Amino acid sequence: MRKKIVAGNWKMNMNLQDGVALAKEINEALVADKPNCGVVICTPFIHLASVAQVLDQNVVGLGAEDCADKEKGAFTGEVSAEMVKSTGAQYVILGHSERRQYYGETAEILKDKVQLALKNGLKVIFCCGETLEEREGNKQNEVVKAELADSVFNLSAEEWKNIILAYEPIWAIGTGKTATSDQAEEMLAYIRSTVAEKYGKEAAEDTTILYGGSCKASNAPELFSKPNIDGGLIGGASLKAADFKGIIDAWK
Ligand code: 13P
Repeated sequence: MRKKIVAGNWKMNMNLQDGVALAKEINEALVADKPNCGVVICTPFIHLASVAQVLDQNVVGLGAEDCADKEKGAFTGEVSAEMVKSTGAQYVILGHSERRQYYGETAEILKDKVQLALKNGLKVIFCCGETLEEREGNKQNEVVKAELADSVFNLSAEEWKNIILAYEPIWAIGTGKTATSDQAEEMLAYIRSTVAEKYGKEAAEDTTILYGGSCKASNAPELFSKPNIDGGLIGGASLKAADFKGIIDAWK
């Protein structure tokens, strides 16, 4: 059976001290009241090594929000997948729409990042999702399918086991505008069917697919009640322990 996961994406928020304090708080809350799903927090690079020290990673996994598309060398300012792994992190988010939109990450770049992340033993939370304009033009399925085809459908069946997908419609990120649970379910069912075409029905059934975009404690139960929604990738509501725990508790 595929794993249910609630993952936090802190984005560019909190200094090191505040980040470590939040990680501690989340860890304590979840060690005391064990979650019914996998939990991951993805933090800025500079937090990783310190946050790794305060997490019980049997309960709360740790991930980065990105990694470099190059293995090592003269790439000033970049952080490689191997460096991420060496902090104790086990996951990395790749293909987030903010990276694609603001930092020009193309499908080709993402393909290289995914390969390097997997090669270094990280699990990849791979994001896809359409803009408002694309949805209004009813192009969401073809956009999402192309994002998958261009960056992850080249992977082997063995490599695919370390891929978690996250559907994040760009119009729902940080806008307070959540996709309805029916819209999210429809897209996740579609994504699962494209995975089945590529890797077979069994692999598709085993693939964890998350929804992300203004997910919070109040709408998580409705979203997570849908058969294809295996959890959430959470931005804003992952920045306070009580809010994040509220979403995790939707699995109870
Ligand atoms: P919000 O939950 O703030 O809408 O962000 C979603 C997201 O982008 C998670 O990666």
